[in-house]
Amino acid sequence: MTKDLKTRRRMTTQELEKIIESLLKREEELWLAIEEDLRENAGKEYHDLMETIRDDSDKALAELEESTVLSYIKLKLEEVQSIQQALVRLKDGEYGRCLDCGCWIRPARLQVVPHAARCISCQEAIEKWLRG
Ligand SMILES: [Zn+2]
Repeated sequence: MTKDLKTRRRMTTQELEKIIESLLKREEELWLAIEEDLRENAGKEYHDLMETIRDDSDKALAELEESTVLSYIKLKLEEVQSIQQALVRLKDGEYGRCLDCGCWIRPARLQVVPHAARCISCQEAIEKWLRG
């Protein structure tokens, strides 16, 4: 075991439940916002899109590639995806661990961004890389 793992305070069930609750609440808010964007901008295809998007958000994003609705919902959908990934990590007991370097993300960061998948330094590195 690395030092990081040993010294890390385990989250209590209560803390974990609170995190799950806030993640689910945020996910629902995002879905409502996405539905609204689709209703206002996708016209007749709205119902088809709503079905695809809940089942397979990656596929829906690909289908929307050419559409103007995409710009409205892309960020929201990406946040939904990271929330869903955070929920999987919670189930696996891996929640709060940085995807890239494996260190435990600081609780203060998780409080602000509960679905954070990376520690601050790895997140900054990836954003820098994305910007080119
Ligand atoms: Zn990291």
